Amino acid sequence: MLPDNMLSVTLSKRLGDFSLHMEFRLAERSVCALFGPSGSGKSTLINCIAGLLKPDAGRIECDGDIWFDAEQGIHLPPERREIGYVFQDGRLFPHLRVRENLLFGQRFRPGRPGNGADLSLEDAVELLGIAHLLRRMPATLSGGEKQRVAIGRALLRRPRLLLMDEPLAALDPSRRAELMEYIARIPDAWNVPILHVTHSVEEALRLAPSTLLIRNGRAEAFGPTRDVLQKAGAPSPFLHHPSSPTGDCHASIRTENPHAHRLSA
Ligand code: ADP
Ligand code: MG
Repeated sequence: MLPDNMLSVTLSKRLGDFSLHMEFRLAERSVCALFGPSGSGKSTLINCIAGLLKPDAGRIECDGDIWFDAEQGIHLPPERREIGYVFQDGRLFPHLRVRENLLFGQRFRPGRPGNGADLSLEDAVELLGIAHLLRRMPATLSGGEKQRVAIGRALLRRPRLLLMDEPLAALDPSRRAELMEYIARIPDAWNVPILHVTHSVEEALRLAPSTLLIRNGRAEAFGPTRDVLQKAGAPSPFLHHPSSPTGDCHASIRTENPHAHRLSA
């Protein structure tokens, strides 16, 4: 029997000429990559989940709580969804030192069991290797350092769900590889489910046991990352990457799209 759904999403959203129609359920409390080309609707989807955008129709539920329900007129604001959000460009508070940036998240979120409640600022600092940066101002940090601080700030909110929108896209390849090593430690240390938006095959393989493939605003496939990437036509050398995570993947999609593939493990 499948465990209860951690996240259940059914939504439609129109933005100009673009329309997003999504239906998927995520059962595992692990990392799921949202993978697709630029303009396919990845940011629109996570902004709807975060509450930054309001879908036109549908329902979003997390661990049994309703975050959005068009029929019932429910649309919780982002702060009541208890999410952590890491943007591509970090978005640290420029006038606050690193330590104050980190504490900003913590101030609003008392510990909640099971979501890294027992992990302190010091633990986050050690996990992300940012102890030497605590007294620095954001403007003096490199791109990779900023992103590590942004991730720490998001984690210290003790989110029920961590959303990351291409957090590595602005980094050069060696910084990207380094930051991937830090991100890979999060699920074990923090027990927080993560939706990780990326259009990098390497990132999806390294970080996410399951992947949702998005094209033209539709969910095309959902399942174990390697299988989904194969369907997506990823170059085969990547698919033999030695360090990709493995594990069970319980995920499902239902879609009107006749070309959609359903994958399960
Ligand atoms: P991705 O994150 O996958 O690159 P986005 O979700 O940002 O894609 O965008 C999906 C599509 O929606 C794109 O074609 C984009 O131009 C369009 N779009 C995004 N925001 C708006 C908006 N506010 N008004 C009109 N079109 C938009
Ligand atoms: Mg985007």
